[in-house]
Amino acid sequence: MPIFDFACQDCGKKFDLMISNRDKDKVTCPECGSSKVRQLLSLFNTTSSGGSKTVQPSCSAGCPTAASGG
Ligand SMILES: [Zn+2]
Repeated sequence: MPIFDFACQDCGKKFDLMISNRDKDKVTCPECGSSKVRQLLSLFNTTSSGGSKTVQPSCSAGCPTAASGG
């Protein structure tokens, strides 16, 4: 199951739960028990200092999905 990040709008508690997509409606704050929680967007590896982009060595040559003119 995926992990979702939530933030309570009553006490400001941030927490993450590993629930299914359908159970996101009945999430309650583990701190105060409020149901006014807001789902946060998941971020993928955005903690990079500096401004240089990291090039991933993924299929630089011989990639099966390499688009070639037909
Ligand atoms: Zn709360």
